Amino acid sequence: MSKIVFVLGAGASAHCGTPLMNNFLEVAEDLFRSGEVDEVKEDFENVFDAVGKLHAAQSKAIIDTYNIEDVYAAFEMGKLLGRLPGIEGADKLERLTSSISKVIGYTLEKTTKVPNDYRINPFEAYYDFTEIIRKLIKANRSLSVITFNYDLGLEYSLYRNKLLPDYCLGDLPLKGNSVTYLKLHGSINWGRCSNEECGKIVPYREFRETESKAGLDYGILPIISRLKRLKCSSCNKTLEENPFIVPPTWNKTAFHEQIEQVWRRAANELKDAENIFVLGYSFPSTDMFFRYLFALGIDMSTILRGFYVYDIDPAVEGRFQSLLGSGVSQKFLYQGLEFEDAIKKEIIGYKDYMDLGRKYLTIPQILHIY
Ligand SMILES: [Zn+2]
Repeated sequence: MSKIVFVLGAGASAHCGTPLMNNFLEVAEDLFRSGEVDEVKEDFENVFDAVGKLHAAQSKAIIDTYNIEDVYAAFEMGKLLGRLPGIEGADKLERLTSSISKVIGYTLEKTTKVPNDYRINPFEAYYDFTEIIRKLIKANRSLSVITFNYDLGLEYSLYRNKLLPDYCLGDLPLKGNSVTYLKLHGSINWGRCSNEECGKIVPYREFRETESKAGLDYGILPIISRLKRLKCSSCNKTLEENPFIVPPTWNKTAFHEQIEQVWRRAANELKDAENIFVLGYSFPSTDMFFRYLFALGIDMSTILRGFYVYDIDPAVEGRFQSLLGSGVSQKFLYQGLEFEDAIKKEIIGYKDYMDLGRKYLTIPQILHIY
């Protein structure tokens, strides 16, 4: 099992252009108005309409209607409880959860920028991250990546660096340099088999073709439209039309069976981890799932040597400290760096990169890889 575990949150993908949780709906609305998502226009309208009703119905803002995770969770809970303000009927509630997964999928597809050419765009943080991975593999260090993100920014850099993401879905025998890559909340390139008895998750792995507009040195990965054309690798039935993404609620039961193997694997990876690096994950107090994953997964007293948290928000330090307790504080290091800075400096000899000062230790420094 893994000795080095990287845990990534939304802050890690932000450098690719993906919106954060609290401006996601604004970005989605801009896309909708620009006409870029016309093929799923009704789904966008459906979500905006329900968010408006939810917003209006709350005398106190219990649910943050500007935050996509809160909204997605509210829709899922609405489906479970059989009601949402202004929306009646199981069909409409079902439709709404389907619509929001499309809104999330299309918004991420349209906003995640992938560089056309790394020789022109060398300062790509995910690419540099895959360089770290490559060096660790070469040095026979075992590692895994656990992420809460749905987007494909990292997949694309793995692909460009000739590394394969092993999602641990048992979907294909991997050859070459595969990287254990556990997406706890699903992914916009995962489709679920429409045959209820099968229900297998099938990932789309062709990252070759990007779409780009003239004059721009980056493109996007058109994944969702292609996912729809895939067939299940087990039973050859079509896949569901929505990407397989899991809402951040307690009630993950509807998604359980298929993704359970990914969660178990994540707990296992954490159990044997010697060094854990958390990047761009703010650990919101509502994320009970992660709290338990950590609490039950990590052996903090014996195996763990270092627990490193990189985030520009200083409040994140306290959240992790209270999770870990005082017994391991000598193993805990918080650094106020964003993802790009945590991995970039001194990896591949970027001399001109801004000097962040010696008080910070970057990942390559900690792992002694240069
Ligand atoms: Zn199937």
